[in-house]
Amino acid sequence: MERPLGDLISLEGRKALITGAASGIGRATALRFAEAGADLELVDIDEFGLRETKSLAEEFGVEVGIHRVDLSKKIEVDALWEALRGREPDILVNNAGVYWFKDFTEVDEGFYERVMAINLDSVFWMCQHFVRARKDRGGVIINVSSIEAFLPFAKGLAHYDAAKLGVVALTRAIARDYGKKIRANVVVPGGIETEGVKRLKKEAIMKFDMEKISISFNFNARLPMGRFGQPDEVARVMLFLASDLASYVNGAVIPVDGGFLST
Ligand code: NAD
Repeated sequence: MERPLGDLISLEGRKALITGAASGIGRATALRFAEAGADLELVDIDEFGLRETKSLAEEFGVEVGIHRVDLSKKIEVDALWEALRGREPDILVNNAGVYWFKDFTEVDEGFYERVMAINLDSVFWMCQHFVRARKDRGGVIINVSSIEAFLPFAKGLAHYDAAKLGVVALTRAIARDYGKKIRANVVVPGGIETEGVKRLKKEAIMKFDMEKISISFNFNARLPMGRFGQPDEVARVMLFLASDLASYVNGAVIPVDGGFLST
């Protein structure tokens, strides 16, 4: 064995930028990375949630910066990287995303552009900034897709599905073109009980009200493990990919869905 396990999983001396860090999977990832010793730059549109994540992460004794950014606006993404110039992260997690339902026939240009801007365009620009900064020094990218990209089970998410499959193609292209220095992988969550999903449930969207949202089958019944996953169960996979445990994992697409995609 070349290096002990604790050393391989440690993120000591590294800095990770995590988007969508104010809640759900992003917050859980921030806390696992902090536990592993990484300094953090946390990005979200929700400043209140960011402050909460920051104070939780700081309990691990790491440095935490927060940035209120609307990722759908390229000008704000550019300003973020300008602010980070000279102290860019060596790990990038593009996790922010929105799963807003709208019937395909009712999607207008404004809605489409905003959804794509958050779920795909921002990932593209964030990766471009990261690769420019790290292509000689090395780094790790983790992009977050969705089971919906591979098995669209909910009606009213065509825009989301298109964006999330775009994230996969983008990540693979980076993995191929910059693999000598940068590892880029995709995490594919499904059925994770986050603030966002809880909100959906509250709004009755996950209650299989066929008229309202048209989930095309009973999601719960289809989960092989018979339960939803927890944000930390995704965060642990993020930690694996960010760490040297995954030193030969590049261009991979890893479902964290309790086996949903295998059904
Ligand atoms: P969440 O709603 O709990 O968290 C998403 C975060 O993104 C929020 O803090 C939100 O404020 C932030 N965000 C939204 N728009 C933003 C913008 N314009 N600029 C900056 N930040 C913005 O969601 P989650 O369930 O933790 O999802 C995280 C990621 O995982 C998303 O990309 C989502 O599509 C994906 N995903 C989740 C599930 C699931 O079951 N929870 C399934 C498949 C994919």
